[in-house]
Amino acid sequence: MKKVNGGCHCQAVQYKAQIDEAKVILCHCEDCQTMSGAPYRGAVVVAGQDFDLSGTVKNYIKKAASGNDRIQAFCPECGTHMYATAVDGDPADKVYNVRLGTVQQRNELSPTIEIWCDSAQAWLPEVAGTKKIAKQP
Ligand SMILES: [Zn+2]
Ligand SMILES: [Zn+2]
Repeated sequence: MKKVNGGCHCQAVQYKAQIDEAKVILCHCEDCQTMSGAPYRGAVVVAGQDFDLSGTVKNYIKKAASGNDRIQAFCPECGTHMYATAVDGDPADKVYNVRLGTVQQRNELSPTIEIWCDSAQAWLPEVAGTKKIAKQP
C-alpha cells in the first residue's frame, strides 16, 4: 500500500488516499476514451475507508457495460474527472477508481493491468509488464 494525495486542476477537490500499487489500471473502453478525451484512461483502486475527499464533486451516472449504474465524479469548477464508484452502498465500504492523472505521485506508479483491450486504439504501442484483459476483469 502507498499513501498518495491528489486533486483536480483548480484544487477545489482534493484527497488523500491509500492505494494498492499492484492495481494501477489502464482502461481502453470506449466510455473512458470519450469521457477522458484521451486514447485511454488510467485509474488506481482505493477502498472507501482509505479515501479522504475534501471539496464537492458533481456526479454523472452512466450505465456500465455490466448494466450497473456507475457514478462518474468530476469537479464542477474545472471539469477534472476524479473517480468512478458504485451508486449504492456506504461510502466507507465502496471501492473508488480514482483517476490516475489526479494523483500527485503518478510518476511513481506504473500500470499493472489493462482492461477492455478489445477496444484499444490500434496505433498504441504495447505497454510492457501489464496483465491484458480483453473486456471486463
Ligand atoms: Zn477543479
Ligand atoms: Zn473504461
